[in-house]
Amino acid sequence: MESDNIECISVSDATVVDDEEVAHVPHPFLKPHGDGSGTVAGGGRSPVMSPATRVHELLECPVCTNSMYPPIHQCHNGHTLCSACKSRVHNRCPTCRQELGDIRCLALEKVAESLELPCRYFSLGCPEIFPYYSKLQHEAWCNFRPYNCPYAGSECSVVGDIPFLVAHLRDDHKVDMHIGSTFNHRYVKSNPREVENATWMLTVFHCYGQYFCLHFEAFQLGVAPVYMTFLRFMGDETEARHYSYSLEVGSSGRKLIWEGTPRSIRDSHRKVRDSHDGLIIQRNMALFFSGGDRKELKLRVTGRIWKEQQNTDPAACIPNPCSS
Ligand SMILES: [Zn+2]
Ligand SMILES: [Zn+2]
Ligand SMILES: [Zn+2]
Ligand SMILES: [Zn+2]
Repeated sequence: MESDNIECISVSDATVVDDEEVAHVPHPFLKPHGDGSGTVAGGGRSPVMSPATRVHELLECPVCTNSMYPPIHQCHNGHTLCSACKSRVHNRCPTCRQELGDIRCLALEKVAESLELPCRYFSLGCPEIFPYYSKLQHEAWCNFRPYNCPYAGSECSVVGDIPFLVAHLRDDHKVDMHIGSTFNHRYVKSNPREVENATWMLTVFHCYGQYFCLHFEAFQLGVAPVYMTFLRFMGDETEARHYSYSLEVGSSGRKLIWEGTPRSIRDSHRKVRDSHDGLIIQRNMALFFSGGDRKELKLRVTGRIWKEQQNTDPAACIPNPCSS
């Protein structure tokens, strides 16, 4: 009966990158960006700090260690802090405990304006360099910014790149890892009447050199309890569009089929769920598919992930409506 589960092969340790160094976004701006003078700090035992690095340190809020942006504040003794921290310290300088007042540090703001710094995700691979004040805007959308942990069951605050998150899901959340682009999964739940505490399951698939998260969960849709299953791509939205997937559930000659594009894990699990972008099975239907005495939910979900054919010349197939 279980003989068709051939695709469920556990991932061996060798296939999952356990690159622990990407666990945290390391301190940014480690590299000066000289104009070809050839000297790059670092490597030696006592790396030479470039002027840009030292100025950057001045722009780091001593309280929260974030980069400071205007308005930058200072106390009467010249200790600086960011505006977010200023509103939290009850008018006391956190460094010298003197009354803070309302002094703006225009000089530092001007210095910041003249700086160019690498994207803070430099060490994750982003090669871009930006004027200080437009850096933040870029970083909000930088393709190299870390991803949030895609685990759905709890609020997990872990962030990182994909190899790190894969290892995190496997080691910390004990998520099942499978190799292959097809799957055959059985979801069994002993008391299908209870959907209040939204049940969920996550399985990670590795194929085409990518990782995909298969979610299965039970929740209340309006007044109706439903089961939903969908796939998320562990990567960016633009990459996700290169893949498609299908899901199929059924028994006794009936079946439901869903075909879709995996959503990027940039979109939260909740967002995907709320947009109903997946296979939704009403509970009555789910129990019907389960057969038996309706006391137990037994759903067999089969599916497939495939890579879409790349269109080499996208312009060629767009008709020109303006031709006359
Ligand atoms: Zn601060
Ligand atoms: Zn002070
Ligand atoms: Zn970047
Ligand atoms: Zn997590």
